[in-house]
Amino acid sequence: MADIIITINAGSSSIKFSAYRIAQGQLTQLALGQIDGIGGKAHFCVKKAGGEKTGFDFDQSHGAVDHRAGLAAVLGWLESEGDGANVVGVGHRVVHGGPVYAEPVLVDDFVLTKLKSFEPLAPLHQPYNLAGVEAAREAFPGAAQVACFDTAFHRRHTFIADTYALPRAYYDQGVRRYGFHGLSYEFIHRILRHEEPVLARGKVVVAHLGNGASMCAINAGKSVGSTMGFTALDGLPMGTRCGQLDPGVVLYLMAENKMSAAEITDLLYKNSGLKGMSGISNDVRELEASGEKSARDALDYFVSRVRRNIGGLSAELGGLDCLVLTGGIGENAVNIRRKILENMEWFGIQIDFDANARNERIISEKGSPTVVMILKTDEERMIAAHTAELLDLKKPLVPPLQ
Ligand code: ADP
Repeated sequence: MADIIITINAGSSSIKFSAYRIAQGQLTQLALGQIDGIGGKAHFCVKKAGGEKTGFDFDQSHGAVDHRAGLAAVLGWLESEGDGANVVGVGHRVVHGGPVYAEPVLVDDFVLTKLKSFEPLAPLHQPYNLAGVEAAREAFPGAAQVACFDTAFHRRHTFIADTYALPRAYYDQGVRRYGFHGLSYEFIHRILRHEEPVLARGKVVVAHLGNGASMCAINAGKSVGSTMGFTALDGLPMGTRCGQLDPGVVLYLMAENKMSAAEITDLLYKNSGLKGMSGISNDVRELEASGEKSARDALDYFVSRVRRNIGGLSAELGGLDCLVLTGGIGENAVNIRRKILENMEWFGIQIDFDANARNERIISEKGSPTVVMILKTDEERMIAAHTAELLDLKKPLVPPLQ
């Protein structure tokens, strides 16, 4: 029987999971699933590779369903498939590795305590990620638990790239630009290394444009800058998050509107960005379909901030050999991509707009000083690969990552 690796992305009210078989140095995805309604009326749903979606509602008779019950159900499903006993590793998406972790890590009691100490840095995600780790330790006691961090890829930044212009004591306390979406950037860079090794050794900007959005400057495989900072609020406007904001706005809202920290948190995380600006939706497709000016304004603002950051990150790199667009918007939104990339010839970006309309892998013209690519990201697979590598099941991981 082949070894199985599970990936877990545990949030406050949902757990996303996937299962991979690892054999002959290849990871094969077997299934992708989700449990919604954690803490209340929960529903289990799974889709096997090439199969139909199946699911069920949890039995509520013993109270609300927690992370532990959720992962017990994942184990139950695997056992029903005959794979439960072979789970050798569980890879967890953990948002914050603090200033400490620059790589994925095997979780033991010491590491778990350390990760809990980072909860104040990401209070909306870290506690739930760790609830998932604790639940998985119970459900899969024979499997190694591996924490994979959104921050780790950025941890080798210089002090200058990571600090704010505050007294040094705040940096020492942990107030730094951590950057996020690291698993996505790492995955994209591995693909690039495999498919375009010369470009991968150069100066690369990756724009991860999804509901959450950020950009990363990568020099010779190393992250040197990110648009996200201390939290995942900074940088680009997102589905519901504001992106870069003058901190003076927060002070003003506190003083003039008497808003509390909780109210401002709600505004900046859940009611800003595309949703807040448009008053319609956080979804690019809905905004593109809308005839409202506020929808156009929100998309134009998004485009303008991406363009601005292409410039900023390229300046940080001292040039730009390759620009990669990824995430739901980067991979699919033809018109947004066109607006981001048009009139950039002066900068060295020459786009083949027909190739863009056809969603081709390379959308820049032959001879364009900067090669522009569309690559599909896969954070789950990156977590599974890290887990396999840490268990030495598959070392080194080489694409094609199928
Ligand atoms: P998440 O960060 O939640 O993983 P995704 O990477 O799935 O988000 O990206 C979601 C965004 O991608 C949404 O704004 C959605 O409208 C957009 N998107 C997906 N497909 C298309 C498409 N064909 N055209 C335009 N936008 C799209």
